Amino acid sequence: MRELNLLDALWEIITPVDTPGSLGPGDDAAVVNLGSSANTVISVDQTVSGVHADPRFVTPNDFGWRAVTTALSDLAAMGSTPEAVLIGLIFPADTKADDLKALATGADAAAVEAGARIFGGDVSTGPVLTASVTVVGSLRDGRPPVTRSAAEPGDLVGVTGMLGGSAAGLELLRANPSDPDGLRYRRPSARVNEGIALASAGVTSMIDISDGIATDAGHLGRASGARLDVDLMRLPIDPICHRAAESTGADPHVLAATGGEDFELLFTAPAAQVDAIEAAADLSITWVGEVVAGEGGTSLSEAGLSGWQH
Ligand SMILES: [Mg+2]
Repeated sequence: MRELNLLDALWEIITPVDTPGSLGPGDDAAVVNLGSSANTVISVDQTVSGVHADPRFVTPNDFGWRAVTTALSDLAAMGSTPEAVLIGLIFPADTKADDLKALATGADAAAVEAGARIFGGDVSTGPVLTASVTVVGSLRDGRPPVTRSAAEPGDLVGVTGMLGGSAAGLELLRANPSDPDGLRYRRPSARVNEGIALASAGVTSMIDISDGIATDAGHLGRASGARLDVDLMRLPIDPICHRAAESTGADPHVLAATGGEDFELLFTAPAAQVDAIEAAADLSITWVGEVVAGEGGTSLSEAGLSGWQH
């Protein structure tokens, strides 16, 4: 399929841009209308088949979903509302057109689920299936972004959802490629609504857990110049970690601390904000530790735990 024909076929799959003042695919560049009182948040994230997604278990549709979700998770961590997605896609020349359409379907579904649209993209053949996904988000009414660098000693450390499900799901897929719990690995969720709710409820710092909480808590602690004392035994362990641990002999707590790609949010907040945060809509929150003065980092890495390194 020639590039222009392919792009046309893929654009037919993508949900149209319908925001007044915005311009989607078809011109030399897109226009993203964020309104006059919004700040812009931008991030780019690459998903490479065989590096970030195991091609034995991740279907083309999953790959598209995953690549967009991974990028959107970084917007969630800033408390930003996703608006636009752009995808640079490289695929081996022998890739079937139906697989590319399935990938576009998965990518579109992830964008629409987060309230965003795919505004543009580019395709090329190349050695390895790779999606380079740029995401554009907004911060409405001049609200500041939530950064990694403003945790204060005395803050509590919280986490959304449950940890270890993606790593455990991959282990279960290795044992049985059709294990239904493998969905936690194949199709993770970005905590977009949670990120916005946490930002509005007054968290002081935030990061998405893409490389495992042991690693990402270290990033946040170093950026803030403070130490995140996190209690391994208080981590919210995804129940499927216990299933995976039975077959591999791994400790479920270690799986939850070091497993990457859960895309839950790790954040810090003053004790006075705990009630507001717990009252924020639809949030499943676990308090796992506190911020203390000291060298920037986390007690988890001092315990010899570390997460995924790309
Ligand atoms: Mg991140």
